[in-house]
Amino acid sequence: MTTMRAAVFDPATAELTVRDVPVPVPAPGEVLVRVAACGICHSDLSLLHGVFKTKLPAITPGHEASGTIAALGAPAPGWAEGDRVVLHAGRACGVCATCVAGGSPDDCENVRIMAFDFDGAWAEYVIAPVTALVKVPDSIPLSQAAVLADAVSTPYAAVTSTAVVRPAETVGVWGLGGIGTHAVQAARLSGAAPIIALDPLLAARERALDLGADHVLDPADPDVDARIRELTGGRGLDVAIDAVGRTGSVQQANRALATRGRLVLVGMTGDTLDLGTELHFSRERHSVIGHLGYRKEHIQQLVDLVATGRLDISRSVSALLPLEEINEGVRRLEEHEGNPIRIVIQP
Ligand SMILES: [Zn+2]
Ligand SMILES: [Zn+2]
Repeated sequence: MTTMRAAVFDPATAELTVRDVPVPVPAPGEVLVRVAACGICHSDLSLLHGVFKTKLPAITPGHEASGTIAALGAPAPGWAEGDRVVLHAGRACGVCATCVAGGSPDDCENVRIMAFDFDGAWAEYVIAPVTALVKVPDSIPLSQAAVLADAVSTPYAAVTSTAVVRPAETVGVWGLGGIGTHAVQAARLSGAAPIIALDPLLAARERALDLGADHVLDPADPDVDARIRELTGGRGLDVAIDAVGRTGSVQQANRALATRGRLVLVGMTGDTLDLGTELHFSRERHSVIGHLGYRKEHIQQLVDLVATGRLDISRSVSALLPLEEINEGVRRLEEHEGNPIRIVIQP
């Protein structure tokens, strides 16, 4: 087979169309993956809306992918055709100081990202570097494995590596879509108590309660600040995770912090940060930390946590759609139809 179906985005016309394109050929150090599943993420919407730019004249989006190895560009120890894999979206440059020194691809100074800098996985096949592969055991459906890349691993990394949540710390999560819902689950895995989850949507709050939140609040409720103090014995939050990124949510999260509290920002918007007076910030010894993405070890840890039954992400796949209906999937995410955690494409 020499051609495949792929969704191709043209930045000049802002159109996403499914068409026949050549099946790519893996170079040494790469594999060709038969895509089983790929999520639709808010950062894909940012590309389609022109908020994130690509330098390419046309690109296939999709960076939350799983599948099976269809061909190896050269023999790769430990890998074989048919292996079930989930893909890290990063690709190391190979020539920067870190790469030359043999550092982790995660530390590459010019790391390139699948679906933004090279073709992604809203297609029947995708090329990935061998370094991006994480094995998926037969016990994990590939549709679930796909969402581990980014949708689960980014909030998991924010909670475990950036916030470094410890047992019995109080944690608040603002925004209960894909990122925030998985942040609640990661906080639960980390032993946080209590976990307070906030979202204006009742259905999202109820889902968070099912998945590990101890209390849920509507951020529009005028008593939110007082309620958080009450639920944390008057102290406030050790950790606030903001997955919304709007000035209002960040300020509310900042006000909720305990002395020495850490505010971790995961939302990506153009809003201005306004964290109150410098005096308050210093006196309370607050930290504000920006968070982006995940490292390969986070995907590996999540595969292990799902395989051992510690983490249940069976509800994270909100809908499965064929590739030909990619624009319908995009529309559903844009309109939050059905309050999805992740809509997943099966090419
Ligand atoms: Zn994503
Ligand atoms: Zn590099």
